[in-house]
Amino acid sequence: MFCPKCKSEYREGFYKCADCDVYLVSELPQTSTDESGDKFVQVFSTYNQGEIAFIKSVLDGEDITYFFQGESSTMLIAAGAYARLLVKADEADRAREILQELGFL
Ligand SMILES: [Zn+2]
Repeated sequence: MFCPKCKSEYREGFYKCADCDVYLVSELPQTSTDESGDKFVQVFSTYNQGEIAFIKSVLDGEDITYFFQGESSTMLIAAGAYARLLVKADEADRAREILQELGFL
């Protein structure tokens, strides 16, 4: 389930976004665009803060352009939301390979 407003992902059983107070939808488009117009693709999602920190350090080291959506709100994660890893479209394949090597995918 996803929040149509902040795009956070929730586990089954949640029906409203804790942050936005809007009803969740079952599907979101798997791509989004940042302020500069670059296209980003979701490659991974997790609600484990340790995984997020680890993946960030690896992707930083590999010069991958990415961001975690929903990760800024620890409240959300406590409420069962996922943080979604979005990677710049032309680097998404490389990011998937890295995550595969690390055993995340
Ligand atoms: Zn929301």
